[in-house]
Amino acid sequence: MSDGRETVCVGGYSRTEGYVRLYPTKPWMDELSRWNVVSVPVERDESHDNRDESYKIAGSRREWDSLHEKVDKVGELDKSEQIELTHELAGDCRKRLNENQVSLGVVEPETLLDAYLRDLDDEDDSEDDTVQQTLQGGPKASVKGKNDYEKKLYLKYRCDDCDQKTPHDQSTIEWGVYRYWDKNDDFDGVIDALRLNDDSWKHYFFVGNLNNHRTSYVVISVLRFKKDEMTRNGIRVDDQSGLGQFD
Ligand SMILES: [Zn+2]
Repeated sequence: MSDGRETVCVGGYSRTEGYVRLYPTKPWMDELSRWNVVSVPVERDESHDNRDESYKIAGSRREWDSLHEKVDKVGELDKSEQIELTHELAGDCRKRLNENQVSLGVVEPETLLDAYLRDLDDEDDSEDDTVQQTLQGGPKASVKGKNDYEKKLYLKYRCDDCDQKTPHDQSTIEWGVYRYWDKNDDFDGVIDALRLNDDSWKHYFFVGNLNNHRTSYVVISVLRFKKDEMTRNGIRVDDQSGLGQFD
């Protein structure tokens, strides 16, 4: 942020409010780990972000140093609950989200056509470098932002029940990608690490648009479950909905 605070933006889902984007948060707030259920006081800040799903942690500037005390972890989803919720939310398509001006959603890719890396320099203008999403990790998380990395991972896919003529082709800011690159020199290895080539896994993409470019959506998180684990939870995994093999 302009005043020097390092922040990340967190996307989540509330049973009562629907999708929620929460900012600013600190990169090392463990309470906000994936699949945690949290309770947090929020306020709107229309002057900075008027998307329906966006909220600030109340008093975040004034109480920045004690910000973590405002986030109360009240639960955690086990694997079955993770699968259930993801399956329940899935079914969005960027085109419909965009038309309805909804800034967050979950898509179920029917076919993954490609997963590829692009140099950061080659990035086209549809992406926006002002988005605050960077990394979320433990206390030792680096404060590197996504623009400090040489590459960016792109996912080209058709979603289930897709309304768009051309396939989706979105960059991903999944934090696991950047954690992987922190530990490995092999940029391409991240594709296997996310099991994108492995047909025994099913993937869902949590997508969201950019505040300064509302029609551009990126993949915020790559969610994945073992197909046999989904079957055990009573969710039929159609073979044809599996991601295709590619180089
Ligand atoms: Zn679609």
